[in-house]
Amino acid sequence: MPEQKNCSFCGKSAYQVAHLIHGDNRVAICDVCVQRAYALISDSGIRPAPHNHFDLGALRLPKPQKIKAFLDEYVVGQDSAKKYLAVAVYNHYKRIKQSAAGKEDVELEKSNIIMVGDTGTGKTLLARTIARILNVPFAIVDATVLTEAGYVGEDVEGILTRLLQVADYNVAAAEKGIVFIDEIDKISRRSDNPSITRDVSGEGVQQALLKLLEGSIVNVPPQGGRKHPDQKTIPVNTKDILFIAGGAFEGIDRIIAHRINTNVIGFDAAERRSRVDKSKFLHYLSPADLRSYGLIPEIIGRLPVITHLDPLSRDALRSILTEPRNAIVKQYKKLFLMDSINLVIDEDVLDYIVDKAKEHKLGARGLRSICEELMVDAMYEIPDAEDDEVRSLRAKKSKKQLHITKAYAEEKLSQSFDSKAA
Ligand code: ADP
Repeated sequence: MPEQKNCSFCGKSAYQVAHLIHGDNRVAICDVCVQRAYALISDSGIRPAPHNHFDLGALRLPKPQKIKAFLDEYVVGQDSAKKYLAVAVYNHYKRIKQSAAGKEDVELEKSNIIMVGDTGTGKTLLARTIARILNVPFAIVDATVLTEAGYVGEDVEGILTRLLQVADYNVAAAEKGIVFIDEIDKISRRSDNPSITRDVSGEGVQQALLKLLEGSIVNVPPQGGRKHPDQKTIPVNTKDILFIAGGAFEGIDRIIAHRINTNVIGFDAAERRSRVDKSKFLHYLSPADLRSYGLIPEIIGRLPVITHLDPLSRDALRSILTEPRNAIVKQYKKLFLMDSINLVIDEDVLDYIVDKAKEHKLGARGLRSICEELMVDAMYEIPDAEDDEVRSLRAKKSKKQLHITKAYAEEKLSQSFDSKAA
């Protein structure tokens, strides 16, 4: 049978196109038509049929202590949360193995987690770090964008869209994945909400979320956004997806305090009350407190593992600057080293940075912006202005030194940071 000499779609001959791809039925397609078809498909939002395979054999099962040790390298303190996370993730893997092996004599229920702790104490960092050792898909989503179906915002199914995307649309893999839902406290029921208006971003979303948490088949729009009738959806079973929720739950310490009745009465009440360490209230966190805060009981029931993150002490902030594997100071040292500059920061400068973070109540998140203010001039001026000098130094295989003293830090930060923060 003679080979097709023209594109079966546009009719161009083999000489007019770069490639003519032959099929087995005396049909051929040219490179231009392939590209057009590709553009058409990508514009229409149609994706290639999802592959649907998850290789359980390749699933490594990191032991809880190993997971915790790994978290220790990146996250300072927060031992309790680390332990709970490590165990939950370990059990998650075991459950996946069990359900795949079909040994369901004793069904292992999943234990979704809720982490409570001030903003900037490491909740997202813990989640991100744990994602590094996992070999299941892991997605981080923000609860603040979620609204009840039909309102402006994102449907809860969008959470699974993220997971599908991370899993490269491998449904079987996504169904074994882990989702971190940040800012879960922002969908608390508003008790002061007048009942005539619907609680669009509160209870309604919690109800919708419940469907995901309790394990059901959810139709997920592959590209996210609002579902509409003619959009193709992908059914995803959430039975084996582990959910980790996190939130600051601002003011929950007062609820806990009220519950455990720390209001001591008596002639030395004031003194005894002052002895109660407020930062320790979270240690007594219970499901009842989450309920008082505005999470519906059904949601709390689906997040049975409750753990907390401690507020960051001065020492913790100080360690965050230098100790974790990608500590901020290590990052700056590396940046300067790439220009052959040896960065030396005096110890009292680090204390000063922590002071500033405390003073402006910025927590760990502030450390980075303070350092950035401190370093920006040096990073701007040094590599360029002294290019020749640095180059000649390189030739001599020696390094130039940038020494940050407290006086320098005070000058830089009082110029910019204090006035900006004020
Ligand atoms: P949140 O609790 O609000 O999710 P994040 O995890 O986003 O807080 O923390 C913000 C930043 O602060 C992190 O990227 C990290 O640099 C730093 N950080 C916060 N807590 C810790 C911690 N315990 N150990 C190390 N770095 C921390």
